[in-house]
Amino acid sequence: MSIPGRSAPYPPPATGVPAGPRAHLLTTGNTEQYRQVLAEGIDRVGARIARTARPFTGVTPAALAPTVAAVDLDRPLADATAALDELEDVYLRDAVYFHHPRYLAHLNCPVAIPALLGEAVLTAVNSSLDTWDQSAGGTLIERRLIDWTAQRIGLGPTADGVFTSGGTQSNLHAMLLAREEACAHTTTPRRDLLPRLRILASAAGHFSVQKSATLLGLDDDAVICVPTDADRRMCPAALHAELTRCHRDGLVVMAVVATAGTTDFGSIDPLDAIAARCAAAGVRLHVDAAYGCGLLVSPTRRHLLAGIEHADSVTVDYHKSFFQPVSSSALLVRDGLALRHATYHADYLNPAPLSTGEELPNQVDKSLQTTRRFDALKLWLTLRVMGPDALGELFDEVIDRADGAWRLLAGDSRFEVVTRSALSTVVFRYLPTGPAAVLADDANRHARRALSASGEAVVAGTKVDGSQYLKFTVLNPETTVDDVAHVVDLIAAHAGRYVHERSTAVATPCPVG
Ligand SMILES: *Cc1c(COP(=O)(O)O)cnc(C)c1O
Repeated sequence: MSIPGRSAPYPPPATGVPAGPRAHLLTTGNTEQYRQVLAEGIDRVGARIARTARPFTGVTPAALAPTVAAVDLDRPLADATAALDELEDVYLRDAVYFHHPRYLAHLNCPVAIPALLGEAVLTAVNSSLDTWDQSAGGTLIERRLIDWTAQRIGLGPTADGVFTSGGTQSNLHAMLLAREEACAHTTTPRRDLLPRLRILASAAGHFSVQKSATLLGLDDDAVICVPTDADRRMCPAALHAELTRCHRDGLVVMAVVATAGTTDFGSIDPLDAIAARCAAAGVRLHVDAAYGCGLLVSPTRRHLLAGIEHADSVTVDYHKSFFQPVSSSALLVRDGLALRHATYHADYLNPAPLSTGEELPNQVDKSLQTTRRFDALKLWLTLRVMGPDALGELFDEVIDRADGAWRLLAGDSRFEVVTRSALSTVVFRYLPTGPAAVLADDANRHARRALSASGEAVVAGTKVDGSQYLKFTVLNPETTVDDVAHVVDLIAAHAGRYVHERSTAVATPCPVG
């Protein structure tokens, strides 16, 4: 006699549409609801993108906070349409729009449509790339893209890597591997070695290097700043001097971090010369190419990354210069074995391989994360639809545009420009003449705030040698030189008005009494 319920054939999928709370889950009977709700969301965003006249409304946190605070999260709305209506008020209307040609602030790009398709697919299937048994093909796709990127870099046959949440995580991961490699190559006990470990990076490098050093329990002075030249590139001679000094002082340099595309200046450290110094000193080289990685697909500028192939590890941010939505980043390493430093085994997830040699491709063995998005799918679909050359052409175009902006500002007596970027940033400031020059810092700060408040354009600010500067980061090929010229005039007007008002206030004679 059969056991009830066991011998019965597997029940066919329910044909009815689920009701109650289950109506909101993407399940067999619910694909029409899924299609409708997402299509409505896409329509809203499409309409918003199409009619956005400014990159920003200029809303302040104080003005927007009450709208968000007023939402009662314990009382849901009637349906997705109502939620999207509400979303217009709490988010969509006042969001900062990177697709707008006068968004010129940070390293945010307009996103490739095939990548958005990837985003929709990967979140609906919801693979988790930690283990093969939660992703299958997703794991293989990620591995192909890691191999593809490593090949573009020229890391050689033993290369490997893993997708990460961003450049910060990639850099942290790289520094973890560097610390562990340093520990593995000495008989000095770890507790004695840790305080002596040093990282050499340039002043124009990314702050995540310092943050990583802190997270990794290194000394407060672990990150040593290597001087740069006038173009904000690390000086190989200065690096050599620091390596020698560290060696003399009994310090252990666990890594040199070169930057291929500094966040502010778009400068690319001389990778070949730095790699030669590292090789001579037997020191690990990490290249932070979070920004400059777009050159890997550039049809005309790939040579700017010459020397990157000597790196022991490389950070790439596809969400900076491959037109990918956040998040999409990876860490690549020359020697895949180095990734073992992040390997831990959990009985429930990725038990240690059996003696039978059976081994599954579990990416969690290489990652700092466990549950992990299938971000690689976005890049995959982008490459399959557009191809790498098209991406590279877009990146080339924004570099050309930034150079146009640089020439415009260099020829404008109201402004001073800093170094000419190898990539797509321009650092500059409004420079009042005569006695008003002392107002430069405040005038530039004011101009940036006023511009943002007007919503006409968004630009970034930064400090150069202690003074306040402004920064354009061009990542949108839709940005024209006319857009840039318009923004430059707006900045000059805001800053000029500020200087005028402050000067007349200062010039007003004090009442004598
Ligand atoms: C943006 C950036 C980072 C950090 O990357 P996130 O993706 O923002 O975490 C690291 N290094 C450089 C040079 C960057 O420009």
